[in-house]
Amino acid sequence: MKAIRVTTFGDPAVMQIEDVPPLAAEDGQVVVEVKAAGVNPVDAYMRSGQYMISVDLPYTPGIDAAGIVKAVGRQTRRFRPGDRIYVTASLSGTYAQDALCTEEQIFPLPQSLTFEQGAAIGVPYGTAYRGLFTKARALAGETVLIHGASGGVGLAALQLAKSAGLTVIATAGTARGLELLTKEGADHALDHSQTGYLSRITDITQGRGVDIILEMLANVNLGEDLKIAGRNGRIVVIGCRGPVMINPRDTMSRDLVILGLSMMNLSTDEKRKVYVSLEEGFKTGKLAPVVGRQFPLAAAPAAHEAIMGRGAYGKIVLIP
Ligand code: NAP
Repeated sequence: MKAIRVTTFGDPAVMQIEDVPPLAAEDGQVVVEVKAAGVNPVDAYMRSGQYMISVDLPYTPGIDAAGIVKAVGRQTRRFRPGDRIYVTASLSGTYAQDALCTEEQIFPLPQSLTFEQGAAIGVPYGTAYRGLFTKARALAGETVLIHGASGGVGLAALQLAKSAGLTVIATAGTARGLELLTKEGADHALDHSQTGYLSRITDITQGRGVDIILEMLANVNLGEDLKIAGRNGRIVVIGCRGPVMINPRDTMSRDLVILGLSMMNLSTDEKRKVYVSLEEGFKTGKLAPVVGRQFPLAAAPAAHEAIMGRGAYGKIVLIP
């Protein structure tokens, strides 16, 4: 079985494809034949050795995937060999031909979705759902700014917000990304690479400001976010790559709330509730992951360069 292995932290080239021993499922576990693995920014942070949670070396990267159940342990009840599933976490890492998971880490993959789409669900849709509903408590009729909407989490949030009846202002940094946002149903698409783009928010909201901001790059935007949120606005910090200067006074005049979020904090039960809540949307087609670039497993280093680069366009996946 081939897997990507990291034996030392560092740049993308530390990821090497290797032959590793086959996996065996114990009680309550399954071996998944990985058809596609999702590439998330957190995979790159972990590989670089600079993530807030330490990882033991050597390891196989990857949190998300989709595939087919290949083998089950004796006390495994919910899944059988041949089932189409998506993976939201694993015991062995998902950048591999096979992954070992507990039953709680996998969910049925709706027939309407491809494996590549299934690999785009775990972290992105889980994060978007939590940000929008658990943290910001979004309601139909409210306006959300998805600040960084052309990537995995942002597009998931866009689809979730539209299907829940919100008005969506979404941002991207390329013409192609902006086109995608409009195609996916954004009411307004703004270019975050242009100076002064946030001044449009006043007109769009007729001076009220936005109710919710889902922020993908807080170290750049949080200070300005505080100026464009409306009364009782909720700002959810999803992505942040460094410190930022803000004026806390900006939170006072409109009773703003800044909320942090990490998918790593979810209990198994909380996670199950999130993914079960998404099921109906996938079945009805209101939620349909957008897959962008696809790389063969051995090109994991190039996939990490891409996920950390500019010009996001949907989900990046690896094909074993
Ligand atoms: P992604 O697919 O790489 O997308 C990155 C997004 O950020 C793109 O839409 C990109 O737009 C946008 N962006 C770039 N420059 C920006 C700017 N100046 N202002 C606003 N947005 C900007 O990554 P992702 O999977 O969607 O994740 C987004 C962020 O959330 C990452 O930092 C990730 O680490 C974090 N995250 C956190 C959690 C958590 O548990 N807290 C979970 C998942 C993800 P363009 O490329 O079009 O410029």
